[in-house]
Amino acid sequence: APNTLRELLDTGRNFEEQEFLIYQDERLTFNTFFARADAFSHYLVTELSIAKGERIAIAMRNYPEWMIAYYAIVSIGAVVVPLNSWGSADELCYGLSDSMAKLVICDQPRYDAILSGADQLSCQTILVRAKDDQAGLCFEDIVRANLGAAMPEIRCDSDDIAQIMYTSGTTGRPKGAVSTHRNICQAIFSFEFHGMCSAMANPESIGKMFSAGFAPCTLLSVPLFHVSGCYAAFLLNLRAGRKTVMMYKWSAEEALALIAKERVTIFSAVPSMVVDLLRHPNFKTTDTSSLFSLGGGGTACPPSFSSAIAENLSDAYVGTGYGMTETNAICASCTGDAFLYKPNSAGTLSPLVEWQTRSPEGDVLAQGDVGEIWLKSACNISAYWNKPDATAESFIDGWMATGDIGYIDDENFVFLVDRAKDLIIRGGENIYPAEIESCLSQHSGVADSAIIAIPNEHLGETPGAVIRVRQGADLSETDIKDYLNTKLAAFKQPSHIWFVDEELPRNPAGKVLKRELLKRFMN
Ligand code: AMP
Ligand code: MG
Repeated sequence: APNTLRELLDTGRNFEEQEFLIYQDERLTFNTFFARADAFSHYLVTELSIAKGERIAIAMRNYPEWMIAYYAIVSIGAVVVPLNSWGSADELCYGLSDSMAKLVICDQPRYDAILSGADQLSCQTILVRAKDDQAGLCFEDIVRANLGAAMPEIRCDSDDIAQIMYTSGTTGRPKGAVSTHRNICQAIFSFEFHGMCSAMANPESIGKMFSAGFAPCTLLSVPLFHVSGCYAAFLLNLRAGRKTVMMYKWSAEEALALIAKERVTIFSAVPSMVVDLLRHPNFKTTDTSSLFSLGGGGTACPPSFSSAIAENLSDAYVGTGYGMTETNAICASCTGDAFLYKPNSAGTLSPLVEWQTRSPEGDVLAQGDVGEIWLKSACNISAYWNKPDATAESFIDGWMATGDIGYIDDENFVFLVDRAKDLIIRGGENIYPAEIESCLSQHSGVADSAIIAIPNEHLGETPGAVIRVRQGADLSETDIKDYLNTKLAAFKQPSHIWFVDEELPRNPAGKVLKRELLKRFMN
């Protein structure tokens, strides 16, 4: 089996004039995609002298150029650094400096943010889809000038680093999750395998799959800078010759129109998007008969997920999956009849991963007992970038700590009941309370603060801030909002702000008792 991304993805070249990517009014064939990527990679090596192992960041929303740049970067042995495009200027600049990126390829809003956020930008920039005549390097010009050039031949090994993907950190700053070529190749195989299994879980889906001539078409509505969008839609489809219909921004109405127009067969997103789609007034009148796989994952499915499905779909081609940035792939999935049978489960574990549940002391527990889930898999990331302590803590003897608390029942279904890590997941986007708390602690008027998870019917959870104001300081809700807005991405902004006068309740170890705060403020 291929063990470098170049080998793995180059099978896509066999699909020549077939359509690969549909984005608004642009339609790219496989040939066009590869020609542009070849031109760009040629430029990176010959003009910018990018060497093996050097980091190149991508900071943009979903654009075809995101994919072209990604493929070009990993194919020449450089390390791709996908940055979360919803990040604030501060967060984007942190990703660039932490990864020591030599170059960043960005869209106009990210370019503006990076320039405003950096005292001194230490990397080069290439701009895609610039608003107006911008000085500096422009992606379209580079590609045009190098069209026809071949991709440089650079030898890559399966254990070479391919990617550093930033994921929010428990300590306040995002951590770079490091994957080798092998890790990602294995993850793509795993997505391929899961896709097959989920379709096979339901006879009606198999029928639809055959009638679609085994020509799956994916609607990509989630960001490319997360594993789900990048691997399950982009890399897998590029390799397997499948059509990908990409959205810039989520809209249920537009998604429905695209499903009917492009005969989309696979829609896999976060649960709140699936709910939006099923509950949209146009759903009943739209021809969605091409869909044979509908999934929501990346976060626990809110109760609205099962009810929206029960109300709107007669057959069970739906499912959910459990995974995380650090596992690169889906570790467990629950599809078809199994989903209806145990809708609260994250599903059965993939045969490609080994699992254990462990006590806080590190003892391996019996099946059925609640503990932290540890996983072993060739898909798992290899380390955290430049963080030996965090790496040593989470990776032990080939096993990886997930930070998720759960149990595995006697039928091998995974149930996630809690998190060891203090984490809030708002509609699939991770928010680490520690990051907001550390930000608040830098405000002169804040004496102490705690960020708690507020249950939300649609998004699952949103962050709520409990703030103890420093004596003599005069702070309003607006002051806090204005302050946080300059520091943190929009999706991390607290939905609720409460002020308290007294000390926050803590356990003897000094940890804030967040459950107690939640009870106090939420009734
Ligand atoms: P991320 O790295 O952003 O993909 O976040 C991964 C985390 O999301 C996991 O460690 C879980 O805590 C949570 N998660 C992912 N999938 C599920 C699921 N199906 N059910 C419950 N929680 C999930
Ligand atoms: Mg997630």
